[in-house]
Amino acid sequence: MPEGDSVWKAARRMREQLVGRTVVTSDFRVPQHATADLSGRTVTAFDSYGKHMLTRFSGGITLHTHFEMDGAWQVVGPGKVLPRSFDDEVRLVLRTDGPTAYALRMPVLELVATDREADVVGHLGPDILADDWDEDEALRRLAADPDRPLVEALLDQKDLAGIGNLWAVETCYLRGHSPWTPVRDVDLRATVRLARRMMQHSLEHPGQVTTGDTRRGMTHWVYGRAERPCRRCGTPVVFRDSTGAPYARETWWCPSCQPGPFPSLEERPTRPGLRRGVNEESFGSRTRRLSGRPGYSRGPRA
Ligand SMILES: [Zn+2]
Repeated sequence: MPEGDSVWKAARRMREQLVGRTVVTSDFRVPQHATADLSGRTVTAFDSYGKHMLTRFSGGITLHTHFEMDGAWQVVGPGKVLPRSFDDEVRLVLRTDGPTAYALRMPVLELVATDREADVVGHLGPDILADDWDEDEALRRLAADPDRPLVEALLDQKDLAGIGNLWAVETCYLRGHSPWTPVRDVDLRATVRLARRMMQHSLEHPGQVTTGDTRRGMTHWVYGRAERPCRRCGTPVVFRDSTGAPYARETWWCPSCQPGPFPSLEERPTRPGLRRGVNEESFGSRTRRLSGRPGYSRGPRA
């Protein structure tokens, strides 16, 4: 799943290419908006909020999209079209008097009145990448349940919006906490500031690098590194697939550098040779178990 910084970067790219353009034709290929028509409207903004994208049009219309595991925007130059092989994946074609934008595989794609955007993002906590980010409010929400494991609190988009698994796992490592440390035992302000600083850095640099080392295979401390030696102490990195717990996903940590509680869930321990989940070069696998979990899609998107 693209994390907040990836959605932020996508919004910036789209903004540069499309803001100020007038829609010539719009072709919605989702049932609920099959007859919607944005032609004649000007694209006025592309903004991200957490992992959500808000595309605004003149006349007070907003297009809300969420990439979830697999969605993407693709832009082609004036007069060009995407190859036909993409036809099955297209959910929206937005042809403007400049480039044409395609929303591909987008699981959430809906129109709302711009003054009703709170209906789709109002449930989220403060956006960690916003210029006017409300740190105190995020800390209040993170600390509300003192027994909650740190990794779960960081991933709960109702606490703060934008942190995904990579940043959560790497932040736990760099702060020296087991991901299951109760938030009451954590300096939350320092933790959140570290996550924000890393994500902000990512906005201006390619990839998502937490080690400062951009070489292939060197970009992360523990994320995607099951059973490989910890870069600091050499202890094999441990991996757990915490399917079933709220917000929990694949989690990696170094048991030596990150003391604290271990999961008390019914998980399987990592088996020798197991290389599941994402690796350092491929984010957002299409075959995530989470997507099939009962209830995962219920309620507002995180
Ligand atoms: Zn270590």
